[in-house]
Amino acid sequence: MKYCSECGDRLVTHQLAADAREYDYCIRCAEPRIDHPSVMLTCFLSCGQKLLWIQRKLEPRSGFWAIPGGFMERGETVAAGTARELWEETGIRLAPAALEFYMTGTITFINQVYICFRASVASEDCQPGQEAIAAAFFSREECPWDEVAYPEVNDSIRRAYDDLERGSFGLYQAEMTQEIYRLLPISTVGYSRV
Ligand SMILES: [Zn+2]
Repeated sequence: MKYCSECGDRLVTHQLAADAREYDYCIRCAEPRIDHPSVMLTCFLSCGQKLLWIQRKLEPRSGFWAIPGGFMERGETVAAGTARELWEETGIRLAPAALEFYMTGTITFINQVYICFRASVASEDCQPGQEAIAAAFFSREECPWDEVAYPEVNDSIRRAYDDLERGSFGLYQAEMTQEIYRLLPISTVGYSRV
């Protein structure tokens, strides 16, 4: 049984005459309550051959390490939201225009779309925000791979280290379902098959 995200009332199943699909509907709010995917914004921020990581303070996966990111909020662009998350989690303030689009993808089993930018900085100065225990730049060798919060996306992170070490960045689309995991190049710009 599902409940309204706004008022807490029990939802009913609603079907429009012209549409075969069924929706969850709140009678009190008189609105559909559709479980749209949320948008997760992340950024691979590099300094030399290192990438910026944060150690999560909040559940889930408290104490484990992740690439900085968070949910997009109403009224912001994807680049502005990514810059906000970087600032909140690591104390690093970048202009949205300094972020370059890098990856996108769907993770169907957690109902998320993610959009990932990349950028580089000249200094490793950073400080964890309220939602992080620590923030640090790690090379591939330094990275605590045994303490990664979401090992499901390690292929994407390894790809980022690959591109960083090669000095040439592709564009990628990831498709992650219960059955498949694919990280596909979506452009040949800067991409070479090795
Ligand atoms: Zn309601």
